[in-house]
Amino acid sequence: MWKAQLKAVIFDLDGVIADTNECYNQANRKLAEELAVTISDAENDSFKGIHRSEIVRAIAAKTGRNYQEAEIVALGVKKNEYYQQMIADLSPRDLLPGIKRFLQELTDADMRIALASSSSNYHFVLERLGISHYFHAVADPAKVERMKPAPDIFLLAADLLNVPYAHCAAIEDGEAGLTAVLATPMFSVGIGTAPFLAAANWNLADTAGLKLAELRQRFAAR
Ligand code: CA
Repeated sequence: MWKAQLKAVIFDLDGVIADTNECYNQANRKLAEELAVTISDAENDSFKGIHRSEIVRAIAAKTGRNYQEAEIVALGVKKNEYYQQMIADLSPRDLLPGIKRFLQELTDADMRIALASSSSNYHFVLERLGISHYFHAVADPAKVERMKPAPDIFLLAADLLNVPYAHCAAIEDGEAGLTAVLATPMFSVGIGTAPFLAAANWNLADTAGLKLAELRQRFAAR
């Protein structure tokens, strides 16, 4: 049987490369506070990987008042300012365990590496983390029509690398993100212990277990 070879690895950013989820949670809570509503941790979790405007809409809806589109946009700008204040302090120390080693392993093996994040701050975050130079391509979420859970951003990342989808592995920790990967021919890697992650081709509890040799093995055995 013909088997595709692993040629590229596509990363989600928040919760896979760096633990920025708390920065998002805080920015969301701060916006909710300003609108005099509260959001639970579960709600905050459900926002993972969802586009900013959708999160703002969900938080604004809790007030029971109708917001004009221009107000939603303004709230989104404000929420992003809060987020940027939180990520300004990011440094290489905030990389999740094993990520730097894994990126180096991929580089040494001549793998193609791309980023597929919904975050409009991806460029700044990669810079702060000191890992921009590892990436051959970063997919700009502003360039895709549909956000996660649609597969568009992962397909764009593979297209930018010029690697066929079946030769790619994609790493996600969020439900919307994993749904996006599962809608592609890519090999899916799920990071974390949430039940939905069991749907991934390879589910690891955390990033420390990411090893190229095992990824290759599992990719070939799919
Ligand atoms: Ca994520």
